[in-house]
Amino acid sequence: MNIVILGSPASGKGTQASKLSKELEIPNISIGNIFRENIELNTQLGKLVKPYITKGKLVPDEITTRVVIEKLSELNINSGFILDGFPRNLAQAKAFQQYYNIDKAILIEIDDETVMRRISGRRICPNCGAIYNIYYEPPKYENRCDICGHPLIRRKDDNEQTAMKRLKDYKENTLPVIEFYDEKGILIRVNGLNSPDEIFDEITKSLTRVR
Ligand SMILES: [Zn+2]
Repeated sequence: MNIVILGSPASGKGTQASKLSKELEIPNISIGNIFRENIELNTQLGKLVKPYITKGKLVPDEITTRVVIEKLSELNINSGFILDGFPRNLAQAKAFQQYYNIDKAILIEIDDETVMRRISGRRICPNCGAIYNIYYEPPKYENRCDICGHPLIRRKDDNEQTAMKRLKDYKENTLPVIEFYDEKGILIRVNGLNSPDEIFDEITKSLTRVR
């Protein structure tokens, strides 16, 4: 089964994609991870995409689509695959379709307010790496790590402005992809406000039902 996972920023789709990959024993292709790894290893691809990513710009569609297709050709995908972070716009979805068929598109739905709170409320401990959210999982003492007592920090990108920009970008680019898969009758909507385990349950149940 070839699966695409869709959802707004902070919808938890990365978590679900990797859980599903283990459950179904099929590879999970996260375009974000591929780009990050290549930048870290300073490969040719890394050098090519780094300027876009560091400036917060989108990597051109031709590059992204080619990378995903090449990656799939290297993997054993006899039982299917999962795509996370791709396609992020209609052009990519249509280009990809000429190479591979998608059986199911899973959309993890959360409202804008939740997206904003999940991103802007995130605090991390620079000492031990613990992650908090001032709205959902606040530390016991204000701005102090429960584990090591170190003052918490907010990552540069975890602010309202960045969250708004990412949300706007998602709506402009990815909503047409959702419609595209909905029209094909392969879209599954799940409630992203539930706990990760509940979401995972809902996904696996709906996949068995339609199989
Ligand atoms: Zn800590």
